[in-house]
Amino acid sequence: MDAPNLVIATHNLGKIKELHLLLSDLSINLMSLQDFPELPEIIEDGQTFLENAQKKARTVADYTGLPALADDSGLEVAALAGRPGVHSARYAADRTYPHTPNDEDNYLKLLDELAGVPWDQRQAQFVCEMVLAFPKGEMTSSRGICQGMIAFKPQGQRGFGYDPVFWLPEYGCTMAQVDLALKNQISHRARALQQMKSIITAQLQPPPAMQAAT
Ligand code: IMP
Repeated sequence: MDAPNLVIATHNLGKIKELHLLLSDLSINLMSLQDFPELPEIIEDGQTFLENAQKKARTVADYTGLPALADDSGLEVAALAGRPGVHSARYAADRTYPHTPNDEDNYLKLLDELAGVPWDQRQAQFVCEMVLAFPKGEMTSSRGICQGMIAFKPQGQRGFGYDPVFWLPEYGCTMAQVDLALKNQISHRARALQQMKSIITAQLQPPPAMQAAT
């Protein structure tokens, strides 16, 4: 029996690589949206991470006729009532720059908004919602959270997005200063995937007896 297919509902090569690594011990044939270039763009217009992840997983599962795994993530800052939240990727889009706003513009806007906010009120969390959808069928979700603080200034060159300003109190540095192996243990995405992995194993992988018979 062939290994079951699972489509990772993203074009993001970084996420595809990360998920390949984290799911490498399962007998599953991983595909991604790179394998379905004709799929129309999915507009992420949900009010929550869960709505966006559900929309991506549902659309891809129904379009491909295969189980699909989608995630949506971002940063929630307590002093900003949860902003930037679902707007994390394009937080600085309302400002005028001579270029398309990028990750640095996003976190510099965040630091501007937090100017004058003392250390004990700078709590924040990265949130990831992951959804597994079956064609015309069930959807299951898992949520991963990584808690920290927003630093007063950016530090570190690794990672992406808000990592340079996301302070990890247990490690005494920002997320942009830890190596990828550690980030992949403590990140919101890794935590959501760890929970989802047992669901994928139970729902997609044939039981050992059937595997042995193939
Ligand atoms: P996505 O929807 O998962 O692609 O993430 C949306 C946005 O959230 C990204 O463009 C980043 O700004 C932010 N974000 C998500 N995950 C991370 C992370 O691990 N580090 C830093 N920023 C992140």
